[in-house]
Amino acid sequence: MRLVFLGLAGAGKGTQALVLSEKLGIPFVSSGDMFRHHLSQSTDLGRLAKGYMDKGELVPDEVTIKMVVDRIEQRDCRKGFILDGFPRTLAQAEALDRALGKGPVEKVLYIKVSEEELVRRLAGRISCRTCGTPYQLDALPAQAKTCPKCGGELYQRADDKPEVVRKRLELQWPEVQGLAGYYAGQKKLVEINGERPVDQVGSDLLKAVGA
Ligand code: AMP
Repeated sequence: MRLVFLGLAGAGKGTQALVLSEKLGIPFVSSGDMFRHHLSQSTDLGRLAKGYMDKGELVPDEVTIKMVVDRIEQRDCRKGFILDGFPRTLAQAEALDRALGKGPVEKVLYIKVSEEELVRRLAGRISCRTCGTPYQLDALPAQAKTCPKCGGELYQRADDKPEVVRKRLELQWPEVQGLAGYYAGQKKLVEINGERPVDQVGSDLLKAVGA
């Protein structure tokens, strides 16, 4: 099953995609996590991406497309994959279609959440430096300094700071709309209301993929 998650930052794509990937037994491929991994390893790609990421801007298509396409061509993605954070532009969506050829994307799951709610969620979000899991500050015990899942250090992503959040959302809105139109044209788009409890959104997603 080849799936794409679509939605603005903070819509819950990462959280839901991780759960779905475990349930379906297919890899979860997040372009943002891949960039953050390169960044933490100080690779050439990481150094290049850092300048864009810190400002909340997109990393150029050319490098992003190559990084993701190389990943989904690996053996473990033969049974399928869940993409999160990619494609972000029409050029990326078209490149993905070309790369997949006769085994195209089957469903695009668009998690919709209002901008107001997104700013609230992102500004209150902290993430684990080791496993990448995001948490809402107000949902963690007051003294928590480490990740409840893996014990890694918790930190606020530079691009989750409120001033960067609004810019990311402003940039993302037309992109998400454009991609939703592109995949609606291919009859692959499924819209999910993301302003509900995590498990309800999760069960809608399972239904949407027929699992
Ligand atoms: P995310 O974790 O998906 O919010 O991504 C964090 C940052 O990584 C973004 O703000 C971009 O700078 C970069 N990034 C992630 N995915 C892409 C993509 N598909 N195209 C371009 N830049 C991306």
